[in-house]
Formats: sequence, C-alpha cells, structure tokens
Amino acid sequence: MRKDNLSSEDINPGQELKKVLENLYPLNQEELSFVGEIDRSFKEDGKLVEIFYQSTINYLIRRLINTTEYLKREHESSELQNKLFITKLRNFFQQETWIDDENIERLISILQLCIDEKRRKRKSKKKDLIKNRIEILCYVCGKSLEEDKVEVEHMWPKSMGGITLSSNLKVCCSECNKNKEQYIDASDFHYEQISLGTRKSDDSFEREFRGVYKVALSAKSDYSCSLCGQPVEVVGRLNFVQRNPNDSWHFLNIDGICNSCISLGDQNGD
Ligand SMILES: [Zn+2]
Ligand SMILES: [Zn+2]
Repeated sequence: MRKDNLSSEDINPGQELKKVLENLYPLNQEELSFVGEIDRSFKEDGKLVEIFYQSTINYLIRRLINTTEYLKREHESSELQNKLFITKLRNFFQQETWIDDENIERLISILQLCIDEKRRKRKSKKKDLIKNRIEILCYVCGKSLEEDKVEVEHMWPKSMGGITLSSNLKVCCSECNKNKEQYIDASDFHYEQISLGTRKSDDSFEREFRGVYKVALSAKSDYSCSLCGQPVEVVGRLNFVQRNPNDSWHFLNIDGICNSCISLGDQNGD
C-alpha cells in the first residue's frame, strides 16, 4: 500500500508506535497459551492468534496515546509545564512498566508526535483526492458517490496518530465514515460478534451485514478483494462469501470478493 517516495512527514506516528510495540512484543507462536490452543483445535491456521495479537497491540496503542493525552492535559499551561509533562510520562513508564530506558525514550518521542498530530488542524483537500476520477467509489463499501456526498476519511485514525496528508486520506460515504470511527484495522472491531447470520437468503442476514459489520469485513482484507487484491475504491462493492460452506458465517470464515472474481469463479463452474 505504501508508495516508495514517502517522506518522513508522510508516515503516521501511530504506525511508528505500532512498529515499536511489535518489536517489543513480537508474536511468538511457541509461547501462546489458550489462544494458540483454540486456534490449533479449530484449525484456524494462526488466523485467530493473529487477530488476538493485533487487537492487543491496538489496545496498547490506544492506552498509551490516552495516557499521554491525560498527562499532557494536566501540564499544558507553560513551557516549564511541558517539560514536567515529559518527566511525568517518563516516570509513568519507569514505574508502571518493565520497559527498558532506550525503548521508553523511543516511545516518549513517538507518543508526542501522535498527540501533535491528533491536535493539529490541517485542512484535508477533498478536491485533490477526487481529481481525475471518472467514478468516485467509497473506499470501504464501494458505493458510487456524488461529488457533494464525498467525505474525507483518515485510514489510520487521526486520534490514533494518523496524519492529515493524502497518503493517509481516502474518500468514503458518510455511513462508512461514521461506522469506521476510530478503528485502526479489522482486529479493532467486535469480530467475535460477526456473525450470527445463517442463510444469506433471509432478511435478518441482510440486516446484520450492514453498517459496522461491512466496514469490519472490508477492513479485514485491507479494503480490497480477498482474491485479486484490487482495492474496493476501484472494483466497487464486495460480495461476501464463506470460505468453508460447512461452517457458519463467522468473521474468520468470510471473504470479500469483487464482481469480476465472482464471475470468473462461476465460469470455471464449481
Ligand atoms: Zn461506504
Ligand atoms: Zn477480485
């Protein structure tokens, strides 16, 4: 997804924070306790472990940004106070965690960038995002949008240290914008609730697969077709299909497939 010519300004501090945390707490398949057991038992091939891991890293990102914001708010009246804020943040890490000093300093500097970005008032230019587009599709659900209905969305949420620059901005419909809220990725959603649906043909199924579920499922494949990898903003609405028809429509068993991949599958006749 990343372009090669990114400048350092283009990188989301929230994503940097994620990298530091993933380095500090790498996913160690050997040491997994109950989640690994369940994953193996249900033949999930590491998918359940991965989503638990990502969800816990996201929890840490959110918790650390909130702690930083909390301490900052208590000390923002002056320059001197700002120094005190850094000291308090350092004290927090030294007293409340076992993280080593080098990583503490790294975290402190990135967390400050996250807070700066969260508070920065930078105008997003909708015009730049939609110029030269023949058809404007919501990057989450693939709905075709009139120009005046287009909303600008931070892929990596602003409140989680996402930048307001085109590398982190996409256009979407108002419903998806509202439903995505501050979610970072698919593991942030209530994946355990998706889904109770049984038959695709009944009404309750359609109702359930609206709104936040759709956003979560689209996020799961990085807002792209699970087969060809083309983004939703290019191929349009995804069709949700079961990986394994003998299993229910739960989160790990659903793939989003674009129309052309679906019709290719039909032609090959299965
Ligand atoms: Zn949408
Ligand atoms: Zn496709």
